[in-house]
Order: sequence, then C-alpha cells, then structure tokens
Amino acid sequence: MTNGVVIVGTGVAGATAALALRTGGFDGDVTLIGRDPHLPYRRPTLSKDVLLKGTPVEKALLKPAAHWDDIGVTVRTGVTVTGGETATRTVELSDGASLTYGSLVLATGGIARELPGLPPAPRVKYLRDFADATGLRDELGRAGSVIVLGAGLIGSEVASAAAELGATVTVVEPAPLPLVRVVPPSIGRRLAGLQRDAGVDLLLGVRPGQITVEPDQVSVAVPGGGALVADLVVVAVGSSPDTGLAERLALRVDDGILVDEQYRTSAEGVHAVGDCARVPHPLEGGTYRAENWSAAQDQGAAVAQVLLGGTPAPTVPWGWSNQFGAVLQFAGWPAADDELEVDGAMDAASSDPFFARCHRDGSLTGAVAMGRPKELRAVRGELSERISAAVAR
Ligand SMILES: Cc1cc2nc3c(=O)[nH]c(=O)nc-3n(C[C@H](O)[C@H](O)[C@H](O)COP(=O)(O)OP(=O)(O)OC[C@H]3O[C@@H](n4cnc5c(N)ncnc54)[C@H](O)[C@@H]3O)c2cc1C
Repeated sequence: MTNGVVIVGTGVAGATAALALRTGGFDGDVTLIGRDPHLPYRRPTLSKDVLLKGTPVEKALLKPAAHWDDIGVTVRTGVTVTGGETATRTVELSDGASLTYGSLVLATGGIARELPGLPPAPRVKYLRDFADATGLRDELGRAGSVIVLGAGLIGSEVASAAAELGATVTVVEPAPLPLVRVVPPSIGRRLAGLQRDAGVDLLLGVRPGQITVEPDQVSVAVPGGGALVADLVVVAVGSSPDTGLAERLALRVDDGILVDEQYRTSAEGVHAVGDCARVPHPLEGGTYRAENWSAAQDQGAAVAQVLLGGTPAPTVPWGWSNQFGAVLQFAGWPAADDELEVDGAMDAASSDPFFARCHRDGSLTGAVAMGRPKELRAVRGELSERISAAVAR
C-alpha cells in the first residue's frame, strides 16, 4: 500500500477524516487504527448518558460497524501504532504488522492528566474512554459519597451525574471559579450557582493536598489541617495532548503536535488534527489547541479536504457542556479576561438563558451562552467572516 492514507486514532477527528475522504471521492486505501478496543464512538456521551444510564457502546457508535465495510475503510481496533519512520513512510503496529503510507494522519487525541503517585484504582477514577466510564459508573452505583478533583468541563459533568445518581458530592477546585480557563468570571459564578443549587459542596480556591487511598475510603487533605473523606475520588484535572507517537516519529511538538494552516506537521506526508494538534490561530497569530468535539470533527473533515487537494478555510472551534440541567455552549476563543456584552441577567437564577459576546481589545473573540444556540451560531458565522476577510488581505 503506497498511495493509501493511514489514520492513527479512532476518535472523532480520525473517524471524520476517513469518512470525509470517502465522501470526497478518494478511492485509495484508507486504514483507521485505534488503541481503543471499540469502533469510533461519541466521547462526550461518556460523562452524560453512559454515567447516568449505562448506555452501551453500541448505542454510542459514530457509525454502525457495517458502514466502515460499506465505504471501504479498514478499521483496526485494539491496535497501537508504536513507531515508524517518516523517511520511508512506514508505521509499526503493536500486532507486529507494519504499513507503508502515502499520507499519515495523526489523530491521537488527548490523555487524562494523572496526579503524580495516584494511578487509577477501584477508588480512584479518571475519565477518558469507554472503559473508564463504565468502571466509574459501577463505582458510582456503590458509592454514597464522591470527591471530584477539578471543576473544569469533565469534573463539572461528573459532579452533575454523581449528584443526579444520589451521591453526596464535593468538588475541590484550586481556581476561584469553575471552568476558569474556558469562561469569563461572571459566567463561572453562574456555573458555581448551578452546582451549589444541586447540593454540591463546591470548594473553590482550595488546593487538594495528600490523597490517601484505604481499602474502604479515600481521604483528601485540605489546607488548614483537615481532610475530606469519601468512598471514591474522581480526578478531573485536565487533559494533555497525546504526542507520544509524534515524538517517536521525531515531529515538532510543543504542548501539541505543531501543524500549519493545512494541518501539515514538520515531516512531509504527515498531518495532525484534533485534540493532539496545535494549530495556527487564524485571527490573533500564535497557536492554540482546541479540546472539543466539534473542533476535532471539523479538523478531521478539513484534513481530508487537504488530502484531496483542497485548501480548507480555518475552522472556528465550538463546544458544549451538559451540567446540572443546563446546556452551556461556547464558540471561538473566549478567555477569562475578555470584556462581555451580555444579553440576559447574570444575577438571575443560574439556569436561566443568557448570551454573552466576548471581546478583547475591541474585537470579537467568541461567545458563551446557555440555552441560546441561534445567537451562538451567528457568532461562529461572524468569526468565520472575519477569518475570510483576514485571509483575503
Ligand atoms: C468524558 C468526556 C466528555 C466530553 N464531553 C464533551 C462535550 O460535551 N462537548 C465537547 O465539545 N467536547 C467534549 N469532550 C471533548 C471531546 O470529546 C474531544 O475534544 C474529542 O473527542 C477529541 O477527539 P480526537 O479525535 O481529537 O481525540 P480522541 O477522542 O482522544 O481520540 C484519539 C484516539 O487515538 C487513540 N490513540 C492515541 N495514540 C494512538 C496510537 N499510537 N495508536 C493507536 N491509537 C492511538 C486513542 O486511544 C484515542 O482513542 C469530552 C471529552 C471527554 C473525555
């Protein structure tokens, strides 16, 4: 196989690249290889329906198994790409095989950041893949009390699910507000309100200390000499780009695989997309790494367009989070210190709809909303137009 495309990672970025190659008319070999034992599935469902309802993987698949055969994409699950050589365009697989590629797409995603000295264990849970989610659901079914470390997107969603399942939930977050890296403070305060209204004991500005795992409980030391005690601790302290393979292939990596506007890495014939990739910021210069579903999906489609000879426009990231009965949506590149133009009362009951346009130095950077999807879509359109205008200049 010399002209084929090998895609590493069966997440949404890799899967979408494979699907878009076929819909775009590519008739060479397409091989999608993933360490995960399952066919591509919707990862966001893990912290929602899988935790709450035990949704089986079959119900979360991106496409039914037969679809991949129908479109002629070879999917190899439970197989890791262990290394290779970009000079000879070869990759090696954990099952002993090696493949030659015409183009290689790295869509290796992210990994849940682990706390040093705290590996996963029955009373210590992380959440990234289907096995993590079913393991966590089982433990939540037994646990009366849970400590969640981190009030980011995943920590907040886990806290929401655990509270809905009837557990006593304590969230410990060193930052002064939830989702501090994603949303400005006034919105963080609304999110804190949501958690507290649901009965969550939200400890903000608290850095957890020593974590002690005992056979029947877990304790987390907190400043002042006390300790929190629960049946289970869930560690949700962010994710890191999975750059292990890129490093073995000697690609340029700096908190993500560095790519240009066309998702090309530092090696010829190798592209990278999704959570693992650090892409150029189309408006502000510099680079950014998106960590949301739609961005990974859009980048997967865009890299297929590149491989088919096109020149896709830069994508505008957007994402959502379901927590405590509300749907939070964000688009673009909002940041904590942005100025806000708010429609809706920020001091209203915490699940009432609002829409906030975010500005920096007088320019639109993005938007954050609750229950206002139409306005959010409009801001994505506006940002796309600004990008087109910037590209045309
Ligand atoms: C629990 C959870 C809930 C989320 N909820 C939301 C949400 O509500 N909204 C939202 O916008 N985003 C959400 N996200 C984020 C979103 O799911 C991710 O941004 C998106 O899935 C990234 O897709 P990806 O394809 O880039 O990477 P991933 O989905 O991480 O897929 C990468 C795959 O590559 C595999 N891989 C890595 N290295 C190798 C190798 N060497 N060989 C073979 N395979 C390899 C990995 O095993 C993995 O399966 C959530 C994430 C999590 C974990």
